Amino acid sequence: MAADECELCEAARLTEWYHDDEACWVAECEACFVPMVVWKRHDPNPPEEVRVVLHQRLSAVADRVLSGEYWIDDRLRSIPGHYHAHARRRPR
Ligand SMILES: [Zn+2]
Ligand SMILES: [Zn+2]
Repeated sequence: MAADECELCEAARLTEWYHDDEACWVAECEACFVPMVVWKRHDPNPPEEVRVVLHQRLSAVADRVLSGEYWIDDRLRSIPGHYHAHARRRPR
């Protein structure tokens, strides 16, 4: 999928945005209703040091908006060409 037809590159503010900086943004995922961090590059494989920072940004938001435990799910399913990660609630 090309960057110009990627919905993560488009970054439409359809849901609440919690965080926005030069590396990434964090918003509520419109499909999953949990916080999701999106790297601001159309690339599925950030270097490890970038991945660590993105997960920190996501955790900072998830600590605030999710009650209870969560885990960071960074498998790319519906948008395999662009790195993003969800903070998913742990099943009880
Ligand atoms: Zn989602
Ligand atoms: Zn993209």
